[in-house]
Amino acid sequence: MQKPTISPTLLSATERCETKGWCYKNLKRDYGKSAAQQYGDDVHEAIENWIRDRVLPERADLLEALRIAMPHIDMGAQVEGWIDVEESEDPWRWTGKYDARAPRAPNTVVVIDWKNTTESKPRPDEVAFLQNPAAVLYAVDALRKQPEATHVCFKWVYLKRKDYLTVKAFVVEGTFTREQVLEAYESVRERGRRVLHVLQKPRAELARNMDACLDYGGCQFRSPCLGGSIHMSDPNDLLALMKQIQGAPAAPAPAPVAAPAPAPAPAQALPNLLSGPAPMMAPAPVAAPVAAPVAAPVAAPVAAPVAAPAFVAHSQPVVPSAGARPTRAEFVNAIATLLEYLTGRA
Ligand code: SF4
Repeated sequence: MQKPTISPTLLSATERCETKGWCYKNLKRDYGKSAAQQYGDDVHEAIENWIRDRVLPERADLLEALRIAMPHIDMGAQVEGWIDVEESEDPWRWTGKYDARAPRAPNTVVVIDWKNTTESKPRPDEVAFLQNPAAVLYAVDALRKQPEATHVCFKWVYLKRKDYLTVKAFVVEGTFTREQVLEAYESVRERGRRVLHVLQKPRAELARNMDACLDYGGCQFRSPCLGGSIHMSDPNDLLALMKQIQGAPAAPAPAPVAAPAPAPAPAQALPNLLSGPAPMMAPAPVAAPVAAPVAAPVAAPVAAPVAAPAFVAHSQPVVPSAGARPTRAEFVNAIATLLEYLTGRA
């Protein structure tokens, strides 16, 4: 019997959000990509076409990205290939597509990845290559195919855009011995074991992580995640997503950790979306209208004595206490309120 496959993308998606991993594995072909993902794919294709056939793209934004990337492109590289890494004792095999590889003397193989990022993200001066499952798996595959290689050099070429016609490029490199790569591979195998276990769970038991919903320009599986009730073409789907998740049936209330003190403006707890069972495929009930979405700032402290909630919905905008950095949930909630106001739903 053929073993199931796990790609580095599937591994990372599942570790970030179990439901997203399941959707990526089973529904990937049915759902589109975000604009950011599509742009990234187009840039990859433009660079590959240039290396392979010296063909320039027609689109101005891709031409500009290629022009900026040009000094960092290894023209002798072997472009885009599949990895196939397998252990007889593991009940899965690794698969995935690397961007490019090039030989470098002495006995070093260079694993190249072209990365697209935005101006708002900080520039990485170094990358934890050996914690990156994709990097480790590409390297293991390269080392197995080139037994004479003693070192792997990771070369990540970043194209950082302010907008689609203002792009900068920089490179982050790191070189490691064969032994270091193989040691890191053991921990990637352990992660693979855990992810395979998650993917074998019944779908209704998969957890959802709302912190992952806005990754890479927005999760493309928002609709199946919420029972097909949101359509990607809906311009307000971000707002709808938040509303529906906020309106999802509450999980059994956790026992309070401490004696509840009277709170002036108690926060309304949501089901624990990180670990609680998700109501898959059944459309979530529509959230009750928010009474005063753009009300005056709430001066009261936000924290309520709830046992480690994964996400907390507030009936009013939350203003973190002075000097405090807002949590992601507070930030997302504030954006929802703003969208509501701007789209006239307030
Ligand atoms: S929409 Fe959010 S919670 Fe749902 S699958 Fe995507 S990342 Fe996970």
